[in-house]
Amino acid sequence: MPEEQVTGCGCPGMKGETGGKETVRLGWHEYFMSVAHLISRRATCTRGHIGAVLVRDNSILSTGYNGAPAGLPHCNEINCRIYRSTHPDGTVEENCVNTIHAEINAIAQAAKHGVSIKDADIYITASPCIHCLKVLINVGIRTIYYDKPYKIEHIDELLRLSGVRLVQVSVAEKEKE
Ligand SMILES: [Zn+2]
Ligand SMILES: [Zn+2]
Repeated sequence: MPEEQVTGCGCPGMKGETGGKETVRLGWHEYFMSVAHLISRRATCTRGHIGAVLVRDNSILSTGYNGAPAGLPHCNEINCRIYRSTHPDGTVEENCVNTIHAEINAIAQAAKHGVSIKDADIYITASPCIHCLKVLINVGIRTIYYDKPYKIEHIDELLRLSGVRLVQVSVAEKEKE
């Protein structure tokens, strides 16, 4: 099936916005969130495909997606290994033991290459789990931009106490067009 021709980079999220010959220029939030969605397509865990982009001063510092540690077998239908844990409010969640979350992989990539991420923002295709949020707080993330909510009720208190901002940037619907 031939792909729609667009001017510029042809990133997802641009379809349906052209209106005519002129391509509508993406705003910064849409731009970085669209990059996060593109990156999520490299994810390998069957539990979900998440992408993350660390940004400061409108520049990308590092990226990550969820998957197995480098060099280890990726999740697939056979080796996705699920464990259950109970949140203090009683809700039971399931996670994959093989997988490093996208946010942590973005931080790991920055650390590996010696890139400072102090005072950076992060764009994630889903809101962070409580474990990732704790790490995001400690590396000095100021604002978390997310597309789809994921158990947001679990991170309410931590957000309030830490002062980290959580802002929704929805581009997922446009992605599907
Ligand atoms: Zn998995
Ligand atoms: Zn997480």
